[in-house]
Amino acid sequence: MGALSKILRSTEGGRLMFWCPGCDGAHQVGVGEGAGRRWSYNGNPDAPTFMPSVLVTYNGADADTPGGVPSVCHSFVTDGRIQFLGDCTHALAGQTVDIPEWEAS
Ligand SMILES: [Zn+2]
Repeated sequence: MGALSKILRSTEGGRLMFWCPGCDGAHQVGVGEGAGRRWSYNGNPDAPTFMPSVLVTYNGADADTPGGVPSVCHSFVTDGRIQFLGDCTHALAGQTVDIPEWEAS
């Protein structure tokens, strides 16, 4: 795993990873040649754009409760900013925020 910029890291399999402040977790997108879903990437690690949108579903805390539903995070990443769509289940739904910097480790 390598840091491409303060906000973007590369992982195995030609995947890029950024931190999602809505989920308080990392999301990955596959770019270039490789297995699985692939996104287009503008090649700018300081202000990345991925297309199409990034849709992540996972079992959050709510999924373990009766009637709970999976968490959804749906966003467009454009020029280093994350535009969260209205179907996100987290608090940043409908908002646009900068991709946060990875904490120095
Ligand atoms: Zn997210």
